[in-house]
Amino acid sequence: MRPRRVVVASQNLDKIREVEAIVAIVAPEVEIMRGLKWPDVAETESSLQGNAILKAKAVAGYTGLAALADDTGLEVEALGGAPGVMTARFAGLGATYKQNVDLLLQRLDGADSRKAVFRTVIALVDPRGSQTVSQGVLHGRITCSPRGMGGFGYDSVFEVDGKTLAEMPPSEKNKISHRALALHSLVSKVWGGGTASQR
Ligand code: IMP
Repeated sequence: MRPRRVVVASQNLDKIREVEAIVAIVAPEVEIMRGLKWPDVAETESSLQGNAILKAKAVAGYTGLAALADDTGLEVEALGGAPGVMTARFAGLGATYKQNVDLLLQRLDGADSRKAVFRTVIALVDPRGSQTVSQGVLHGRITCSPRGMGGFGYDSVFEVDGKTLAEMPPSEKNKISHRALALHSLVSKVWGGGTASQR
Protein backbone atom coordinates (compact mmCIF):
# COMPACT_ATOMS: atom_id res chain seq x y z
CA MET A 1 0.00 0.00 0.00
CA ARG A 2 1.53 3.30 -1.12
CA PRO A 3 -1.54 5.53 -1.50
CA ARG A 4 -1.14 8.97 -3.09
CA ARG A 5 -4.38 10.29 -1.64
CA VAL A 6 -5.48 9.89 1.96
CA VAL A 7 -8.30 11.15 4.12
CA VAL A 8 -7.76 12.10 7.78
CA ALA A 9 -10.28 10.09 9.82
CA SER A 10 -11.10 12.73 12.44
CA GLN A 11 -13.74 15.34 13.21
CA ASN A 12 -11.27 17.27 15.40
CA LEU A 13 -10.19 20.33 13.38
CA ASP A 14 -7.21 20.99 15.68
CA LYS A 15 -5.89 17.50 15.04
CA ILE A 16 -6.59 17.64 11.28
CA ARG A 17 -4.70 20.94 10.99
CA GLU A 18 -1.64 19.43 12.69
CA VAL A 19 -1.72 16.22 10.64
CA GLU A 20 -1.98 18.26 7.42
CA ALA A 21 0.93 20.52 8.42
CA ILE A 22 3.16 17.56 9.32
CA VAL A 23 2.26 15.52 6.20
CA ALA A 24 3.03 18.58 4.03
CA ILE A 25 6.59 18.39 5.38
CA VAL A 26 7.26 14.66 5.75
CA ALA A 27 5.34 13.44 2.67
CA PRO A 28 4.63 16.44 0.42
CA GLU A 29 3.47 14.31 -2.51
CA VAL A 30 0.67 12.75 -0.48
CA GLU A 31 -2.58 14.57 -1.09
CA ILE A 32 -4.90 14.99 1.87
CA MET A 33 -8.52 14.87 0.68
CA ARG A 34 -10.89 17.37 2.29
CA GLY A 35 -14.63 17.92 2.35
CA LEU A 36 -15.63 14.24 2.68
CA LYS A 37 -18.26 13.21 5.22
CA TRP A 38 -18.95 10.04 7.21
CA PRO A 39 -21.05 9.08 10.23
CA ASP A 40 -19.48 9.50 13.67
CA VAL A 41 -17.30 6.53 14.70
CA ALA A 42 -17.49 5.77 18.45
CA GLU A 43 -14.13 4.96 20.09
CA THR A 44 -15.21 1.69 21.69
CA GLU A 45 -11.85 -0.10 21.91
CA SER A 46 -9.77 -0.29 25.09
CA SER A 47 -6.45 0.79 23.54
CA LEU A 48 -5.16 3.69 21.45
CA GLN A 49 -4.14 1.23 18.73
CA GLY A 50 -7.56 -0.43 18.74
CA ASN A 51 -9.32 2.91 18.38
CA ALA A 52 -6.95 4.19 15.68
CA ILE A 53 -7.52 1.06 13.57
CA LEU A 54 -11.27 1.14 14.24
CA LYS A 55 -11.56 4.76 13.02
CA ALA A 56 -9.29 4.28 9.99
CA LYS A 57 -11.11 1.10 8.88
CA ALA A 58 -14.54 2.68 9.20
CA VAL A 59 -13.57 5.83 7.29
CA ALA A 60 -11.73 3.88 4.56
CA GLY A 61 -14.95 1.87 4.17
CA TYR A 62 -17.20 4.96 3.97
CA THR A 63 -14.98 7.00 1.63
CA GLY A 64 -13.28 4.33 -0.50
CA LEU A 65 -9.94 6.08 0.22
CA ALA A 66 -6.95 5.17 2.36
CA ALA A 67 -7.71 6.64 5.80
CA LEU A 68 -5.27 7.94 8.39
CA ALA A 69 -6.51 7.89 11.99
CA ASP A 70 -4.74 9.26 15.05
CA ASP A 71 -5.61 8.25 18.59
CA THR A 72 -3.76 10.12 21.31
CA GLY A 73 -3.51 9.62 25.05
CA LEU A 74 -1.91 11.51 27.91
CA GLU A 75 -0.28 9.16 30.44
CA VAL A 76 0.48 10.73 33.79
CA GLU A 77 2.88 8.95 36.14
CA ALA A 78 1.20 10.05 39.39
CA LEU A 79 -2.15 8.82 38.04
CA GLY A 80 -0.81 5.37 37.16
CA GLY A 81 -0.87 6.13 33.42
CA ALA A 82 -4.35 7.71 33.36
CA PRO A 83 -6.17 9.24 31.57
CA GLY A 84 -4.63 7.20 28.69
CA VAL A 85 -7.32 5.96 26.34
CA MET A 86 -9.84 8.15 28.26
CA THR A 87 -7.93 11.39 27.58
CA ALA A 88 -10.67 13.05 25.51
CA ARG A 89 -13.32 12.06 28.07
CA PHE A 90 -11.29 12.55 31.28
CA ALA A 91 -13.87 14.94 32.80
CA GLY A 92 -16.79 13.06 31.21
CA LEU A 93 -18.31 12.47 27.78
CA GLY A 94 -18.37 15.73 25.82
CA ALA A 95 -15.98 17.45 28.27
CA THR A 96 -14.33 20.65 26.98
CA TYR A 97 -10.55 21.04 26.79
CA LYS A 98 -10.76 23.39 29.79
CA GLN A 99 -12.79 20.96 31.91
CA ASN A 100 -10.24 18.19 31.21
CA VAL A 101 -7.27 20.45 32.03
CA ASP A 102 -8.92 21.73 35.24
CA LEU A 103 -9.58 18.17 36.42
CA LEU A 104 -6.01 17.12 35.62
CA LEU A 105 -4.53 20.02 37.63
CA GLN A 106 -6.90 19.28 40.50
CA ARG A 107 -5.91 15.57 40.53
CA LEU A 108 -2.22 16.48 40.52
CA ASP A 109 -2.49 18.96 43.38
CA GLY A 110 0.29 17.96 45.82
CA ALA A 111 1.49 15.04 43.67
CA ASP A 112 5.13 13.91 44.06
CA SER A 113 5.65 13.45 40.33
CA ARG A 114 4.37 15.59 37.48
CA LYS A 115 5.99 13.44 34.78
CA ALA A 116 3.79 12.56 31.82
CA VAL A 117 3.95 11.34 28.25
CA PHE A 118 1.82 12.02 25.22
CA ARG A 119 1.39 8.92 23.08
CA THR A 120 -0.03 8.97 19.56
CA VAL A 121 -0.88 5.84 17.62
CA ILE A 122 -1.50 6.39 13.92
CA ALA A 123 -3.12 3.82 11.66
CA LEU A 124 -3.30 3.93 7.87
CA VAL A 125 -5.89 1.54 6.43
CA ASP A 126 -6.68 1.18 2.74
CA PRO A 127 -10.16 0.27 1.48
CA ARG A 128 -9.03 -3.32 0.81
CA GLY A 129 -8.13 -3.67 4.48
CA SER A 130 -4.33 -3.51 4.46
CA GLN A 131 -3.13 -1.65 7.55
CA THR A 132 0.04 -0.03 8.93
CA VAL A 133 0.39 1.30 12.48
CA SER A 134 3.03 3.53 14.09
CA GLN A 135 3.40 5.38 17.35
CA GLY A 136 5.17 8.44 18.70
CA VAL A 137 5.89 9.33 22.33
CA LEU A 138 6.75 12.72 23.79
CA HIS A 139 8.08 12.95 27.36
CA GLY A 140 7.32 16.01 29.48
CA ARG A 141 5.76 17.22 32.72
CA ILE A 142 2.46 18.73 33.76
CA THR A 143 2.75 22.37 34.88
CA CYS A 144 0.90 23.73 37.92
CA SER A 145 -1.14 26.16 35.80
CA PRO A 146 -1.83 26.68 32.09
CA ARG A 147 0.64 28.72 30.00
CA GLY A 148 0.54 29.79 26.34
CA MET A 149 -2.11 30.56 23.77
CA GLY A 150 -1.30 28.07 20.97
CA GLY A 151 -2.13 24.43 20.40
CA PHE A 152 -5.17 22.65 21.79
CA GLY A 153 -6.30 20.10 24.36
CA TYR A 154 -3.73 19.71 27.13
CA ASP A 155 -0.98 21.69 25.35
CA SER A 156 -1.10 24.59 27.83
CA VAL A 157 -0.11 22.31 30.73
CA PHE A 158 2.34 19.95 28.98
CA GLU A 159 5.89 21.27 29.33
CA VAL A 160 8.98 20.13 27.42
CA ASP A 161 12.36 21.74 28.20
CA GLY A 162 10.76 24.62 30.12
CA LYS A 163 8.13 25.53 27.52
CA THR A 164 4.55 24.30 27.23
CA LEU A 165 3.42 23.04 23.83
CA ALA A 166 0.99 26.00 23.81
CA GLU A 167 3.95 28.40 24.15
CA MET A 168 5.55 27.00 20.98
CA PRO A 169 4.70 28.17 17.46
CA PRO A 170 2.99 25.37 15.49
CA SER A 171 6.17 24.78 13.47
CA GLU A 172 8.08 24.02 16.69
CA LYS A 173 5.42 21.74 18.19
CA ASN A 174 5.10 19.93 14.85
CA LYS A 175 8.83 19.12 14.86
CA ILE A 176 8.93 17.43 18.26
CA SER A 177 5.41 16.26 18.99
CA HIS A 178 4.14 12.73 19.60
CA ARG A 179 1.99 13.19 16.45
CA ALA A 180 4.98 14.26 14.33
CA LEU A 181 7.05 11.29 15.57
CA ALA A 182 4.22 8.86 14.81
CA LEU A 183 3.72 10.33 11.33
CA HIS A 184 7.45 10.26 10.52
CA SER A 185 7.56 6.60 11.46
CA LEU A 186 4.40 5.79 9.48
CA VAL A 187 5.64 7.62 6.39
CA SER A 188 8.91 5.71 6.40
CA LYS A 189 7.06 2.37 6.74
CA VAL A 190 4.49 3.08 4.04
CA TRP A 191 6.34 5.19 1.52
CA GLY A 192 9.84 3.92 2.22
CA GLY A 193 11.50 6.65 4.24
CA GLY A 194 12.34 10.29 3.70
CA THR A 195 9.92 12.53 1.88
CA ALA A 196 7.88 11.23 -1.00
CA SER A 197 9.90 13.43 -3.36
CA GLN A 198 13.14 11.70 -2.30
CA ARG A 199 11.96 8.24 -3.35
P1 IMP B 1 -8.48 11.44 20.60
O1 IMP B 1 -7.16 11.07 20.04
O2 IMP B 1 -9.39 12.01 19.55
O3 IMP B 1 -9.11 10.36 21.42
O4 IMP B 1 -8.26 12.68 21.53
C1 IMP B 1 -7.65 12.64 22.75
C2 IMP B 1 -7.69 13.96 23.44
O5 IMP B 1 -6.33 14.22 23.71
C3 IMP B 1 -8.18 15.18 22.65
O6 IMP B 1 -9.49 15.46 22.88
C4 IMP B 1 -7.32 16.29 23.23
O7 IMP B 1 -7.91 16.80 24.39
C5 IMP B 1 -6.07 15.57 23.63
N1 IMP B 1 -5.02 15.73 22.63
C6 IMP B 1 -4.80 15.00 21.50
N2 IMP B 1 -3.71 15.43 20.88
C7 IMP B 1 -3.23 16.44 21.63
C8 IMP B 1 -2.11 17.29 21.47
O8 IMP B 1 -1.33 17.23 20.52
N3 IMP B 1 -1.95 18.21 22.45
C9 IMP B 1 -2.77 18.33 23.52
N4 IMP B 1 -3.83 17.57 23.68
C10 IMP B 1 -4.05 16.63 22.74
